[in-house]
Amino acid sequence: PDHLQKDPTPTQIQDLHLAVEDLCVFYGEAQALNHVSLSVKKGQTVAVLGSNGAGKTTLLRTLTGMLRPREGNIVFSGLNIEGKPPSEIIRKGIAIVPEGGELFGAMSVSDNLLLGTYPMSRSERKEKLSARLKTAFDTFPILKSRLSQKAETLSGGERQMLAVARALMSNPELVALDEPSLGLSPLLVTEMMRLLKNVCSNMSISILLVEQNAKAALKIADYAYVLERGEVSFQGSGREVVSNPSIYSAYLGG
Ligand code: ATP
Repeated sequence: PDHLQKDPTPTQIQDLHLAVEDLCVFYGEAQALNHVSLSVKKGQTVAVLGSNGAGKTTLLRTLTGMLRPREGNIVFSGLNIEGKPPSEIIRKGIAIVPEGGELFGAMSVSDNLLLGTYPMSRSERKEKLSARLKTAFDTFPILKSRLSQKAETLSGGERQMLAVARALMSNPELVALDEPSLGLSPLLVTEMMRLLKNVCSNMSISILLVEQNAKAALKIADYAYVLERGEVSFQGSGREVVSNPSIYSAYLGG
């Protein structure tokens, strides 16, 4: 159909940082993803938009090895990663910010940040820890003043910042975020997106941003996919998504 627009510029496979091809994922016999294909080029911010139950979280769980696809490939930096365990996928350079952050509430801010370095070897950690912490504090200065505070006592915005900062501690090449705007005020969402984009472009990290808040995601996305009932129903640049009347009224109007 016409509305399934193709990426206008032919893309060489080696330009792709992440390529998801024909992914089919089931929970028992219930199909959650139906031949989903998408790609992220190096340094790009790609949004996956969709309403409740569209399959966004399933896509991220499959990407990070928590779910196994029944069909399809996931290629990251030229390597097939589908079916690999999460620990291996994280070591290859994908960091995830799960929905709600999934922080360790009873642990301090600094211990949560340190947990983000676990994919590193001991020597790498020793060498890189202070630079990583500096980046985290330069990006989210509020965290520095909360270091010994338990994560569960942080505000929603601070928690989300900590979740992003923790993901960046592992020195990822691509960060995948599940609804980082959830529960934040519109002002904080805008600020969060701006900080995320800045830090990732400074560190040359690609972003896969799964969001129900299309307006917020499209502020920083270079390219977007719309997921509906487990299928990609539309894809295009931010401008193409915004200027499509049916997408606009479903996801951006009101
Ligand atoms: P939301 O924005 O509400 O989190 P989503 O786009 O992330 O939605 P998913 O959580 O990926 O959607 O769910 C996709 C489909 O798979 C839904 O129909 C959902 O009910 C189903 N599903 C998700 N998790 C499971 C599970 N553990 N067992 C069975 N079905 C599931």
